[in-house]
Amino acid sequence: MLKLDQIRAAESRLLLQTYDRSPILFVTGEGVHIVDENGTKYLDLLSGIGVNALGYGHPVIEEAIARQSRALIHTSNLYYHEGQAELALRLTERTGLDRVFFANTGTEAWEGAMKLARVYAGLKRSEGVNIGTKFLALEQSFHGRTFGAVSTTFKEKYREPFGPVVPGVEFVRFNDVADLRAKFSSEVCAILVEAIQGEGGVRPLTQEFFAEARALATSTGALLIADEIQSGMGRTGKWCAYQHYGILPDITTLAKPLAGGLPLGAVLCTEEVSRVMHAGMHGTTFGGGPLACAVAIAVIDYMERENLLAHATEVGDYFQQQLRSLATRHNAIIDVRGKGLMIAAELDSAELAKLIVAEMLKRHILINCTSDTVLRFLPPYILEHAHVDIAIQALDEIFTEHAGVLSATTTAAHTTANPAGGPHHG
Ligand SMILES: *Cc1c(COP(=O)(O)O)cnc(C)c1O
Repeated sequence: MLKLDQIRAAESRLLLQTYDRSPILFVTGEGVHIVDENGTKYLDLLSGIGVNALGYGHPVIEEAIARQSRALIHTSNLYYHEGQAELALRLTERTGLDRVFFANTGTEAWEGAMKLARVYAGLKRSEGVNIGTKFLALEQSFHGRTFGAVSTTFKEKYREPFGPVVPGVEFVRFNDVADLRAKFSSEVCAILVEAIQGEGGVRPLTQEFFAEARALATSTGALLIADEIQSGMGRTGKWCAYQHYGILPDITTLAKPLAGGLPLGAVLCTEEVSRVMHAGMHGTTFGGGPLACAVAIAVIDYMERENLLAHATEVGDYFQQQLRSLATRHNAIIDVRGKGLMIAAELDSAELAKLIVAEMLKRHILINCTSDTVLRFLPPYILEHAHVDIAIQALDEIFTEHAGVLSATTTAAHTTANPAGGPHHG
């Protein structure tokens, strides 16, 4: 207790106050559970915002870290190490794209994607193609916090205070094909999408919209860029969410679960796009280091061995089915959606969504709320039915308690309304 209080006091003096943290001090974890300083276990249905794909304390990850840290942690990108080609082979085989650049984080991967698009458009211009430098991003998009990424992120509160942000970005209404057509022109160098928007509320693109974005980009030589930082690496039951649509982007970005908890990002692109990048044009000191690569390889190989994509699909379907059944009992749940283990339950009130997250936390279950009214579940891929049952049971109880409050007001309204219009008894 004292320890947490001391840390809170110290952080409030020493850190930029960018986070509104829950007052919990986590010290360890095992499987789908993360454990606080008092030894209390929390069922983690958020996995560090979609990062801890294999949960906590996984032997495969611990072994890879131990082995690689004894061998080599960092070399810089001036020299070779064993990991990048091995990992790139696995990523290109699974994503359908041809080449990789390794970064450290999601936002940094996204910067790489944007830079690739601009330099590729420049090459096309030099080859006589009429193409501009504009980006079309989507409303409710989230691509990160660095300048390029934040410029393509929809929420004004993330962009405005830092203005002027990178110019040349226009936002298209989500899944609005007519708006996309109206805003697309030869001025556009890339259309930027998340196949399933994450922070925007777990909202999937429609097949029609995604296909139109692909067709428009192809028609002028512009690029289609899919941000798979949250939805990629098996989260939705496929390696990338765009594979549910049968659509291949020219560039994609990966990060969150890529190295099972270590920071690692990747930009992948087609052979055609890759030809614009030459030595010295782009780079990073830490990106694709031996340690992160070794862990990412171990995670992918484990997922393959254990069939975790199929598992994520199966448990995710069960989770959604249970949430749907919950929705039939509780009117406050107005939509259940998602793919695999990227799942949302949308509520009819932001206040209620906040309350549910807080009540779940009291019951030692971690979820979060995004896009105001959306309960979001991004559990580790090793989640089992029994964990889903625990979460559903808790939600059921919380919704019932809350409905009690609601129906009390409804009953009160009825009671007052009744004497005027209702039949008199006795
Ligand atoms: C989290 C996220 C990012 C940013 O990743 P960071 O590692 O936090 O920089 C970008 N795009 C999407 C879709 C994300 O979910």
